[in-house]
Amino acid sequence: MTETPLPFPALHATHGGIWIASGDGPVREVQRGEAIARAAETPMVLLNAPMIGARLGYGEISGLDLLELFAFVHPARFAVPTPRGLARALDLEPPASDAEAAPFLIRAAAALLDRLADPLWLEREGAWTAAQSLFRLRWPWAASVAERIPRPREAERWLFSKLPEWDDAAPRPEPRPIRLDEEECLERLAALVGSGAEPREGQRAYAGAVAPVFAPRPAEGRPNMLLAQAGTGIGKTLGYLAPASLWAERAGGTVWISTYTKALQRQLDREAERVFPHPVMRREKVVVRKGRENYLCLLNLEDALQGGFQNRAAILAQLVARWAAYTRDGDMVGGDLPGWLPTLFRRAGATALTDRRGECVYAGCPHYRRCFIERSVRAAEGAELVIANHALVMLLAERRRAEGRPLDRIVFDEGHHLFDAADSTFAAILSGQEAIELRRWIIGPESRSRGRRRGLSARLSDVASYDDEGALAIEAAIEAARALPADGWLGRVAEDAPSGPIEALLAAVRATVFARASAQDAGYGLETEAAELEGALIEAAAPAAAALESLVRPLARLRQRLEALLEDGPDWLDGQARARVDGALSGLANRSRTLAAWIALLARLGGPADPDFVDWLAVDRVEGRELDIGLHRRWLDPTRPLAETVLQPAQGLVVTSATLKGAGGWDHAEARSGAIHLDAPVRRFEAPSPFDYRTRSEVLIVTDLKRGDLPALAGAYGRLIEAAGGGALGLFTAIQRLKAVHARIADRLARGGLPLHAQHVDPIDTGTLVDIFRDDPRASLLGTDALRDGVDVPGDSLRLVIMEGVPWPRPTVLHAARRAAGGGSAFDDGIVRARLAQAFGRLIRRAEDSGLFVLLSAAMPSRLLDAFPDGVPIRRVPLDEAVKMVAARLSSDTQFRHQDIGQETPGIR
Ligand code: SF4
Repeated sequence: MTETPLPFPALHATHGGIWIASGDGPVREVQRGEAIARAAETPMVLLNAPMIGARLGYGEISGLDLLELFAFVHPARFAVPTPRGLARALDLEPPASDAEAAPFLIRAAAALLDRLADPLWLEREGAWTAAQSLFRLRWPWAASVAERIPRPREAERWLFSKLPEWDDAAPRPEPRPIRLDEEECLERLAALVGSGAEPREGQRAYAGAVAPVFAPRPAEGRPNMLLAQAGTGIGKTLGYLAPASLWAERAGGTVWISTYTKALQRQLDREAERVFPHPVMRREKVVVRKGRENYLCLLNLEDALQGGFQNRAAILAQLVARWAAYTRDGDMVGGDLPGWLPTLFRRAGATALTDRRGECVYAGCPHYRRCFIERSVRAAEGAELVIANHALVMLLAERRRAEGRPLDRIVFDEGHHLFDAADSTFAAILSGQEAIELRRWIIGPESRSRGRRRGLSARLSDVASYDDEGALAIEAAIEAARALPADGWLGRVAEDAPSGPIEALLAAVRATVFARASAQDAGYGLETEAAELEGALIEAAAPAAAALESLVRPLARLRQRLEALLEDGPDWLDGQARARVDGALSGLANRSRTLAAWIALLARLGGPADPDFVDWLAVDRVEGRELDIGLHRRWLDPTRPLAETVLQPAQGLVVTSATLKGAGGWDHAEARSGAIHLDAPVRRFEAPSPFDYRTRSEVLIVTDLKRGDLPALAGAYGRLIEAAGGGALGLFTAIQRLKAVHARIADRLARGGLPLHAQHVDPIDTGTLVDIFRDDPRASLLGTDALRDGVDVPGDSLRLVIMEGVPWPRPTVLHAARRAAGGGSAFDDGIVRARLAQAFGRLIRRAEDSGLFVLLSAAMPSRLLDAFPDGVPIRRVPLDEAVKMVAARLSSDTQFRHQDIGQETPGIR
């Protein structure tokens, strides 16, 4: 490929140094001051401006960001946002060192620009028009891009007319009642695993155990349920996909496969290729479904493109429009929109392009027939496998049960998270942020604001003009919603000058929390139990409840009117209007449920506590800044509503995980999955991991680090990472400590060629951080809970897990209540065991992996060591010795591991 010389210099910065290259001169290492001055006076090519800004301590840096150019040239394509990752995506020779990265950026820019003139460039359509718009918006790349794209002979089609329309299909008949033959399931499994590998005994037994779940249930409310603990590596994904796909095909039904993390959702999507290798068939048979807030809303995008967005946000809208023309499904969060793209714009606008607030106007929207969300909803109706997440499955199960068409076959993978997912799904929060959202949904925009927010009256204007009673209900709802918090509520409440009954309630909540909490100066969130409350708060609860009641009534009246309208079916109510009324009804049902929960919560203040719930008051803060204030309610046991709304209505359920039983055995698994609340026998299956943990891993407990000694903690992390030559995942329970450790060691490690990335520090999304970590065996990554539970990095890139201490649960009000109900310290022990097992589980992801797990805590109780797999050597050693052991073991392992990179083991997850 020819490369055109570029007139721009390039800037590259890491924690280890800063380099500038120009097209004709040598690369120079420069000081921070010079780099900032050059960047201010000359546009420079850089890779990921926010990250470079963070490295330089100069957040305002801008320039010609290669990632933006990549997103323009190759929308909906993946690239790890590092020089090495970009080299791979562009088929270029990667730079040999950090210093070489600066001239590489110029070569990469030239290569990308050269593609614009390449007749084989696949993403040409729409590029000329987008380049013209970006030129007007002064996008730094626009001049270079526009001069290379010849004007097309015919005008390019508008995005909104070229996206395909979805088709409505007749409702599917009920799935046929069938029983799966075990032999056939095993044949299907063998086909999925492929001729290159044999299914293993554990995997075959697993598939055989899953198969009967799909048979018709014996009685109403008594689903076939299987709890399956499948050790890492038995290949459980294909183990359940084999019977699930066979049943879906034979019975004509849909199996919902539910995960907790987006990472597994993505992985399942890839595994489904084995079931449906042909892409066209796969599109029809396998659908990934997420909550609405994940998808691009075309109406919001249109607003943004037509002046709704300004400056950088308007450039983002153009790049998102480029992507929208090529995306597989319009999923902006974890789909094929690069996770790094919104962060390049410091989140300016990306969330405003989705339908976060439920303001969809359904068939009233000009893009309804092309809407990504509507397409995914319809595609799921006809699919054989729907890959979704626990929260969405719970919400849909609740809704579909009310509609009389429950989700009847569900596989919950990552089943050990079912409890947590149910906990947040069935929670009630009456807070300022939640209440103002409700106000906006009902009233619509009250001041000049971005986007196309519309209130109830705009969304239902045709209903109002047809039905007087409906119009009166809408007016009454709008009037009643004026009692909810309005813009500026947080400031008024903080100054004790609330406006309206709900703000008055929140002011009393805040005063109570501050009066009781002991760590007001610490800067993080505060909370207190909703017990023994003062008179002022109890007095504020009654008018707040009355205000909510007066909102419930008109909303209920409006629901009745809409239902009557659907029954009457007047002439003007065509298919599209009907869909819009349906949408409004479902929105009203959700809001009515929320209001009922809020009123129940208020009714309890001052009275006796309801033993089924845990209630508390909280002020959410980050670094001292108040973000929200409210009352919280959780089920003491959230698997009760889970069992009622999700499990009982189903026909067949699998709950599976590598750590389902925890240390508490099957009783624990039954309690945490909700099986305990079913009036039906629940089957159990267990297959141990085939991995040889005993020889391939080791646990080191460092005994000589003083608790609370931050410099020593940072020193330990630094030494261990150096000894391993990178490849470390560092896990923390507190963000502040993570940041402090990172600040102390990142520069030193980078100078030694060991990049250190960190969640909560690097201005980039977590998924991309994991991609960067996975891509470089010398990189290390620091993070908190999300990394402990959801990271799948097989191979050489993850060979050392370092945990800063015993992961005890935080002593919150909710935790205290569950601890009291769940056995006191044994309850805490169970949580710690589960967390240790999850963290250890990151280490060995396939048979060839090996590595070390280091716990930096002398206070690790011996009784909890059974959290690690049987036979794993566990040693208590001083730090010096731990460092030596890491160096000795990982340096020799590394040679062994390097041979394995890139080899996938079929059928294994
Ligand atoms: S139908 Fe709703 S979500 Fe879809 S594009 Fe229109 S307004 Fe947005």
